[in-house]
Amino acid sequence: MGNRRVAKGWMVAARSGAGLAAGAQSGLQSAARPLATADRNDGFGGNGMARVALVTGGQRGIGAAISEALAAQGRTVVANYAGNDEAARAFTERTGIPCYRFDVGDFEAVTAAVARIEAEIGPVEILVNNAGITRDAMMRKLTRDWWDQVIDVNLGSCFNLCKAVWDGMNARKFGRIVNIGSVNGQAGQLGQVNYAAAKSGIHGFTKALAQEGARNSITVNAIAPGYVDTEMVRAVPPDVLEKIVARIPRGRLGRAEDIARGVAFLTADDADFITGSTLSINGGQHMY
Ligand code: NDP
Repeated sequence: MGNRRVAKGWMVAARSGAGLAAGAQSGLQSAARPLATADRNDGFGGNGMARVALVTGGQRGIGAAISEALAAQGRTVVANYAGNDEAARAFTERTGIPCYRFDVGDFEAVTAAVARIEAEIGPVEILVNNAGITRDAMMRKLTRDWWDQVIDVNLGSCFNLCKAVWDGMNARKFGRIVNIGSVNGQAGQLGQVNYAAAKSGIHGFTKALAQEGARNSITVNAIAPGYVDTEMVRAVPPDVLEKIVARIPRGRLGRAEDIARGVAFLTADDADFITGSTLSINGGQHMY
């Protein structure tokens, strides 16, 4: 069931690529490898339901691991990305998961893209707001532009995406939303006034929206990853990174799969009583 729905969704996406609404581009896909089958269940209660799961920034880094973990639960996964077509193509070839290109910080683009995904693949019942960027600078050098970019992509995106799926989730009386925050939104970080504010905002957003969704079995949770070995963290100077790892009790950087495991847990069909929570996955770096 899940496989057939994704394959059909991609074929429609590929054919209709020329006539896209603003901000969205064709899904990229290759049928090189079949998707995870809908009857797989990794023990987190995915229950093999081929619900449509949209993962923003879902074709590389932490997002790629999340997309794959949800597919392994039998979900019908759709990944979004910003502009790295090469990574999207490679990801789709490897996993069979279709990728949709749009800017999560752009309200109109998100609205159009979600409508298109829902028309081509099905109603989004699981949403993972994972896409994020950093534009690090000390306050003296931080520009208004970098402030706006980081707030829009990390925090504004949560509003944009949740808004686009909210009515549908309420009408169907089911939804699972996970917003990816950060340990730096909990503890602060030198040179990251913009990023820490955006991620901290995510944690407040999560708790408030959870209260609105609870009656209709829509759970809204956050994950606050510690430092995870992705391109975002590889951009940190090696000497700084060494000091960071020295402060992690577990003695290593996180792996993308460590975070994906938390998302799989929180989005399970039977995770109905967990809402408004923030799950810290940081190797003991910060206990909050
Ligand atoms: P990466 O930089 O490896 O990947 C970022 C992903 O987000 C890419 O898929 C990228 O698409 C996408 N993206 C960026 N901007 C946009 C946009 N405007 N619209 C749509 N998609 C966008 O990041 P990580 O995997 O490291 O991080 C994932 C999330 O986890 C982020 O929210 C980050 O803040 C958070 N996090 C990461 C930590 C870490 O240590 N890595 C620690 C704590 C939190 P494209 O490939 O096209 O650029």
